[in-house]
Amino acid sequence: MEHMEKKVTVFGSFVVDLMARTPHLPAAGETVKGTVFKMGPGGKGFNQGVAAHKAGADVTMVTKLGQDAFADIALNTMNELHMDTGRVLYSDTTETGCALIMVDENSSQNEIVVILGACNTITDQEVDSLEDLVGQSEYLLTQLETNVSSVERIVDTAYRKGVKVILNTAPVQPVSDELLGKIDLITPNEVEAEILTGIRVDSEEAADKAADWFFSKGVKNVLITLGQRGVYINTGEKKGIIPAYKVDAVDTTGAGDAFNGGLLAALAEGKDLWEAADFANALAALSVQKIGTTPSMPVREEIDAFMA
Ligand code: ATP
Repeated sequence: MEHMEKKVTVFGSFVVDLMARTPHLPAAGETVKGTVFKMGPGGKGFNQGVAAHKAGADVTMVTKLGQDAFADIALNTMNELHMDTGRVLYSDTTETGCALIMVDENSSQNEIVVILGACNTITDQEVDSLEDLVGQSEYLLTQLETNVSSVERIVDTAYRKGVKVILNTAPVQPVSDELLGKIDLITPNEVEAEILTGIRVDSEEAADKAADWFFSKGVKNVLITLGQRGVYINTGEKKGIIPAYKVDAVDTTGAGDAFNGGLLAALAEGKDLWEAADFANALAALSVQKIGTTPSMPVREEIDAFMA
């Protein structure tokens, strides 16, 4: 392979997506005959890990599963993709997470209930067992979907070992200043940036203000995803917008996950943040042209051909 990848760790959630399409979303107490049911791997951490792996990164995926049939969906997917399953954590007492998704096939509106299950029960001891893995990594990418204590602990481990931390702030929730002070690169979308900073990101000037807020907390680099407009980047020294690729999107669910996985893969190859964002925009643009999350992540050859 022409690229020199450094090892990276993705720490985050796995849930099984259970998706039903229906003529209309049921009202309380109503039963509706649906039309299509689909079941497959999902979860922000898992989607991002798969995206990075398929893009060519040397990824070790850490997530936590139960001892059940849903766990097999994660393991089978990882095995099919030749991903390392050796650092997956297991719970004897809590089931694998799942997301119940109902989609109105006329309006495309949805209702989702996520049960995080095992990946909401990651203990300090389990995180501490990952010290060696994290220490060998060039980057750690994590999100806010597993229990917050596990995110705080893994970020601290990486920080102490001088490993660069990328934090994707989804699903958004308050985070401590202590955590933010250990982040090399934060990647909120516009809504998350607003909720975290209190600044509505509706212009480049507003994005500058939001970035300054993150810098004041000790974050080193800020990248805000702007949907079909691309991404805003601010390193403190240089800032600007990298436009998205123009495509006919059919399903933007998981676009943020595709982007973060692509960003990680490109950074691990030694691309600078600007080149990496362009690569990640391309990966995400390919993913939004397919239905689904994990299965919609493109392989490296597709990304290279798309960018050529
Ligand atoms: P989601 O929650 O749907 O996974 P998000 O809100 O976290 O997504 P967005 O900012 O919507 O993230 O999108 C992430 C990236 O995906 C964008 O920066 C862009 O590169 C790409 N993207 C999203 N929507 C489109 C689109 N319609 N066309 C092309 N690229 C897109």
